[in-house]
Amino acid sequence: MSITVAVAGAKGRMGQEVVAAVQAEPDLRLVAQVDLGDDLVRALEETRPAALVDFTVPEAVLGNIEAALAHGVVPIVGTTGLSPQDVEHVRGLCRRHGVGALIAPNFAIGAVLMMRFAQEAAKYLPDAEIIEMHHEKKLDAPSGTAAKTAEMIAQGRAGATPTALPAGAFEKIPGARGGKGVGDVPVHSVRLPGFVASQEVIFGGLGQTLSIRHDSRDRKSFMPGVILAVRHAPALAAGGELVYGLENLL
Ligand code: NAP
Repeated sequence: MSITVAVAGAKGRMGQEVVAAVQAEPDLRLVAQVDLGDDLVRALEETRPAALVDFTVPEAVLGNIEAALAHGVVPIVGTTGLSPQDVEHVRGLCRRHGVGALIAPNFAIGAVLMMRFAQEAAKYLPDAEIIEMHHEKKLDAPSGTAAKTAEMIAQGRAGATPTALPAGAFEKIPGARGGKGVGDVPVHSVRLPGFVASQEVIFGGLGQTLSIRHDSRDRKSFMPGVILAVRHAPALAAGGELVYGLENLL
């Protein structure tokens, strides 16, 4: 039996790739494509898909997830810009409706490995900075991948403390040292034409640096991860929990 799939943001850069990728898989069936201005709830009610793949915009994604869960549909979410509070809200909704969901800041398997290697390196080299590079049309900064990597570096340090800046250090241009969120890992966001999605994590130690870099050169790089997640939709539905990060399905 085929797994039925709806795509939100179907006319977008990622959505178009997802539509083509789902249509190319014999065990998956694309039943709905919605974009800005379409009635998602009606599409869900009419087509009853097993999964809703969402690559929309930060303002729309939470409403789409809520609609999917309320209709017993598993949201497979690639849209970035959700706050930690939003993620916790989705976790609660999954439990309330008894339907699972997947939120993956990065569906590229190479990027998932980059994050895993960064977590491992942080155990031995706690001083780290992240440079993420994306196309000029990306709305949010930093990227979801950078935020997740910072979280994983903070976990990987396991108590080892990074070196403090010297007393009196200051920025001549505000923001020159990047932004800091979880784990105080500086994140530098580059937005330039020519990039799809790249990230380099630089670790510094005594007389040495280690760089771990991943480049998505084409949006097709995300599709094996999206297809993998869609195939997990029945198991996610039964699990009734939010899964955060593609690495949990590998
Ligand atoms: P995009 O080209 O702007 O596509 C977004 C699409 O969603 C557009 O067609 C947009 O329509 C549509 N849309 C807006 N509001 C909507 C709504 N309420 N319901 C349904 N559709 C709606 O952006 P993109 O480059 O494809 O990226 C989409 C998202 O995926 C971004 O958050 C990006 O950061 C993320 N992303 C994630 C990964 C990952 O691996 N997790 C990888 C790449 C990108 P209009 O153009 O008419 O507004």
